[in-house]
Amino acid sequence: MIAALWGLLACSPGSAPTAPTPRARPSVLLITLDTTRADRLGPYGHPLAETPAYDALAAAGTLFARAYSVCPLTIPAHSSLFTGRYPPSHGVRDNGDFVLGPEAVTLAERFRDAGYRTAAFTAAFPTQSRWGFDQGFDTYHDPLERLPTQLDWRDERPADAVVDDALETLAGVEGPVFAWVHLFDAHWPYEPPEPFKSRHAGRPYDGEIAFAADQVGRLMAAWDAAYPDSVVLVTADHGEGLGDGGEQTHGFLLHDGTLRIPMLLRGPGVPAGQRIPAPVSQVDVAPTLLELAGLAVHEGVEGQSLVGKLGSRQLYSEALTGQFNLGLAPLHALTGDVGRYTRGGWGGWYGLDGPRVLTAPDLSRDASAEDAALTALLAAAQPPDAVPNALDADTLARLQALGYVGGDPLAEAGEVDPRDVIDLVPLTWRVRQALGRGQLDVAEQALVKLETRLAGTFGVDLLRAQQLRALGRRGDAVEALAQLYLRSPGGTLALQLGDLYATAGSWAEARDWYIEALEHNPMSPEAMAGQVRAALALGELIEAEALAERFLAVYPDHAELALVRAELILSAGRTDEALEEAAYALRRMPRSPHALAVHARTLWAAGQADPALARLGEALRLDPTALDHRLLRVEWLLEVGRNAEASRAIAPAARLLPEDAAVRALSRRAEEALAEELGR
Ligand SMILES: [Zn+2]
Repeated sequence: MIAALWGLLACSPGSAPTAPTPRARPSVLLITLDTTRADRLGPYGHPLAETPAYDALAAAGTLFARAYSVCPLTIPAHSSLFTGRYPPSHGVRDNGDFVLGPEAVTLAERFRDAGYRTAAFTAAFPTQSRWGFDQGFDTYHDPLERLPTQLDWRDERPADAVVDDALETLAGVEGPVFAWVHLFDAHWPYEPPEPFKSRHAGRPYDGEIAFAADQVGRLMAAWDAAYPDSVVLVTADHGEGLGDGGEQTHGFLLHDGTLRIPMLLRGPGVPAGQRIPAPVSQVDVAPTLLELAGLAVHEGVEGQSLVGKLGSRQLYSEALTGQFNLGLAPLHALTGDVGRYTRGGWGGWYGLDGPRVLTAPDLSRDASAEDAALTALLAAAQPPDAVPNALDADTLARLQALGYVGGDPLAEAGEVDPRDVIDLVPLTWRVRQALGRGQLDVAEQALVKLETRLAGTFGVDLLRAQQLRALGRRGDAVEALAQLYLRSPGGTLALQLGDLYATAGSWAEARDWYIEALEHNPMSPEAMAGQVRAALALGELIEAEALAERFLAVYPDHAELALVRAELILSAGRTDEALEEAAYALRRMPRSPHALAVHARTLWAAGQADPALARLGEALRLDPTALDHRLLRVEWLLEVGRNAEASRAIAPAARLLPEDAAVRALSRRAEEALAEELGR
């Protein structure tokens, strides 16, 4: 079945009939190891490493001792791997707010056009097709599911699952094949499976690398049997700080911990057992693989092939996430034969110790030549029109759970150098983590520290708005978010404002914000669903149905829209159908208070009062500030005569919103019902 599918794909119009017979070309395997530092692998000299697959590759091929990432973040780095272009040229400058645009010419497109079968097997949220990486791939496997038991977003597949997937899909597929396998295991949190956990006790990061290497070994054995004389390149998107420069993870700084990556190349025409000391870059991967496959390197590629002589070069890297997230100075660096120059709030030269760039700057060295070269390089870059990516709450939450923050791509560059405030980054994590767990006092302490050192920055103000919301100070939260929206209008903020008004039951305002969000991002399913919900809540049933029909034509399977459909069916009195639809949506979004509440309402309509109350209780536990859910639950409790519970459930709202008419009326009803019950 799969082989038949491949057969069809090979005949697609993408195949160039004039190209030399594809069978003469070698199959190509590109493996990217997420978050993997070169110096933690055996062939790079780590004495405690357990990476026999990489030892074997280094022996059979060439090892590049000084290979560098262009940006210590998954999405920009992979964009460079696939295009051979630096971030200022392909335009993907941070995780989350950018998508690799359709104008990009990718490795997979080149191979597919040359008659290759192309397949990708990826392990994590930041390498899903939504970021533009599926361009040119016949097959793109990026399945991720959130299980109801998961407490937060853990969007990754372990290496064994990804390798199983690749082996199963490629079984029986004739070459030439271009396959990309992405393994996410070394990314935080470090939780290696046994036996790697025990063998690397106290060094879980090494344990994750050993587990991934073991799976690469399994993949290589099957691959080599199926595709003899193939080209194999193993590299990483970026490394991991592990304390270098004061950074634990990656993203904010430019030092060897996160920039120096493995680069192992093997194949016909590649010398065996060679170690190359010259600096090379991620942008060299695309031209190298094209050349080894006998394909011309296309225009616009900024890297050079690693086959043959390597001249003296200055390799570019950047980290803009501090600017976008915290209003700090952007960091740009050039790494060359004798060291690295990094410019941010201040310029610093970093010398070499063997293949390693030192972590402490040598401020006495004159780096004006490198500084001028950087300026020229940045001035020459012609980025494509930005492809902005309005992040819905869901995407934002998934990125935040991986340690990335929702930023502001319009943020102006600040003066403060990220190197001087890197100790504050864990504080932003602590606030988010504490907010997620409801530890608002812990969040407050960390937030106050952040506000002292980074007053008025977008990222800190956004965290403050989230804290206000968690505290139930909805009005203040709305004002804070609206202020941020004035500074940097975007779909992400508009959606959050819409949701805030919606949970307060202020549907007219909510609708305005959903329409605003749709203007920023006309394809946002969450903004579409919000607009339909608003029409429903405002009693405009005909309008709601018309909108739902239009949006469902675009996204027939979208969970949010399925929920809206459930509400519409429910309001038409078709209870059984509504129950089915709401249950479907809830399975897709098991931790969404809104999905829980709609399911509760369908249960209630079906006469299942106890399950309905339990579901609504779950919704309230997840978002205790949702007033409409609280009021509905109190009404239902009164209706089934659970008066004491009703009285307890309304109490927090009565304390927080003593002036609210609906709260007062329900409060009184609960009191009277309880008094009557006790008086009997
Ligand atoms: Zn990554």
